[in-house]
Amino acid sequence: VTDVHVGVVGTGQLGWMLRRAGEPLGIRCTLVDPGVLSVAEAGTTVADRHELAVCDVVTVELEAVDVAGLDSLASCVPVRPGPLAVAVAQDRMGEKQHFESAGIPTAAWGASARLPAIVKTRRGGYDGRGQWRVTTEAERDASIVEGGGPDAVVVESVVPFDRELSVIAVRGLGGDVRTWPLVQNDHRDGILRVTRAPAPGLTPALQAEADRLVAALADDLDYVGVLAVELFEVGGHLLANEMACRVHNSGHWTIEAAESSQFENHLRAICGLPLGSTAPTALAAMVNLIGTEPPVASLLGIPGCHVHRYGKAPRPGRKLGHVTVTAPDEDVLAERLAAVLAVVDGGVGSETS
Ligand code: AMP
Repeated sequence: VTDVHVGVVGTGQLGWMLRRAGEPLGIRCTLVDPGVLSVAEAGTTVADRHELAVCDVVTVELEAVDVAGLDSLASCVPVRPGPLAVAVAQDRMGEKQHFESAGIPTAAWGASARLPAIVKTRRGGYDGRGQWRVTTEAERDASIVEGGGPDAVVVESVVPFDRELSVIAVRGLGGDVRTWPLVQNDHRDGILRVTRAPAPGLTPALQAEADRLVAALADDLDYVGVLAVELFEVGGHLLANEMACRVHNSGHWTIEAAESSQFENHLRAICGLPLGSTAPTALAAMVNLIGTEPPVASLLGIPGCHVHRYGKAPRPGRKLGHVTVTAPDEDVLAERLAAVLAVVDGGVGSETS
């Protein structure tokens, strides 16, 4: 038994899946409310802070954390990924600057942006919130004001992408990087709906481009742990949209359909253990359960179907769980995915209503 104690900042489903992945390895995860970081010397939550401070290593399962608090914690316990990576991922402009310094192409932004454009708040926006698609200069200027002024937003050209992909990699303490296959992500109402793994029609050249890009970013940030980059595919090449300094929704399929899941490899990396293989073991598709829960028995009747319920109260737009369906070939996967979507969409009061 390794018996390592990991402090996880954040108490959501990503943390639960990390905790579950650690159990067979003897890695114990304690999930801590992120508010603990922002009430540094106040006294009331010293016990919580103390709990983090006595962990062997601390990690994050969400990006909206107090970086100053994380920084102060880093003086007494290793924080992986480090506060710098978290700070970069919190700021869309910081992300773009780091993409550039790592030689990774992005949409034209700032002074180079052209209309039509998207105005995005630098901080706090997620799942399509804090974003305005603009086609005229007047709309753009109004959105910049609405977003809090020129220093609070980034303006970027609309990319005529063919599809949205993401790449997830893990970088170990010694700097070794392993990448899972590129996946295709389809969104609905700004929220990830379906991930297909590997991305249909994935070529070795595109995978190599993704591998290079994510390794360059991870090296640039001296990153330790799992890192995700959301991408646009345009004319057979990749542009980086944003990064996540944590395990990612588009990597949930790795639990059932990769040699090592993103959760296990994140723990291996931050604990300084050898990384596991990221090779896929089956074709997979992941469907998020958003807003309402479909009848579980119907899902379980579909071969290759794995249901993950998060035990949360239903609310429009809320991720309540996910389903991963695996298959030996493309045809069977398409059939099984269609069956899953029929159950999920057939549910009374689907989230698009
Ligand atoms: P984001 O919050 O940056 O992930 O953006 C949410 C969604 O908006 C993305 O998944 C894309 O579908 C779309 N989007 C964001 N930026 C752009 C862009 N520059 N061009 C076209 N679509 C975009």
